[in-house]
Amino acid sequence: MLDADFFRRWMTATAALVDREADRLTALDSPIGDADHGSNLRRGFTAVTASLEKEAPDTPGAVLMLAGRTLISTVGGASGPLYGTLLRRTGKALADAGEVSEEQFAAALREGVDAVMTLGGAAPGDKTMIDALVPALDALGDGFAAARTAAEEGALATTPLQARKGRASYLGERSIGHQDPGATSASLLVTGLVEAAGE
Ligand code: ADP
Ligand code: MG
Repeated sequence: MLDADFFRRWMTATAALVDREADRLTALDSPIGDADHGSNLRRGFTAVTASLEKEAPDTPGAVLMLAGRTLISTVGGASGPLYGTLLRRTGKALADAGEVSEEQFAAALREGVDAVMTLGGAAPGDKTMIDALVPALDALGDGFAAARTAAEEGALATTPLQARKGRASYLGERSIGHQDPGATSASLLVTGLVEAAGE
């Protein structure tokens, strides 16, 4: 079973990964964006860690809803509302359970990813974070490590795609040949799950 502490560890592990990889995320956002993805997420996840320490929510759902709210209010770019919605909607689906099974978490995360697709209008293949999140979800039944591998492969597979959503889509065919920054950060989020589980 996964308790509030697991979800807190998920967020702090992701914050550390984002901090470590921020320069790379910003470098990926340079040729097909505005070179702010790493700094956007670093600011957001630093604030998430601080708000979790301050408010100490005691259920999985409350942890994720607070994290999502914090991302929405601190990240200016497109990724803030999208990741914020992912976490908020996932948290909302977990309601007020004190512990959740991996299956319940996977079902809640699916609601979260669906909400991101509704908000941003992106489908798989549009060269966005969705290209890492959907494969991760599909692999989650085989465990967190399998989900991480699927997310990393999904992020790598965005390179030959032409962007159809977000800032990169303004470049048309010139977006081809670059890995999507948001798909890359989404793979960090999934790696955070592996670390939270201590695998
Ligand atoms: P901005 O584009 O506003 O500068 P960021 O640089 O923080 O925001 O985030 C860019 C990432 O957000 C992209 O690499 C992409 O993965 C993701 N993204 C942008 N628009 C969408 C969308 N409509 N749906 C899903 N993801 C999106
Ligand atoms: Mg950007």
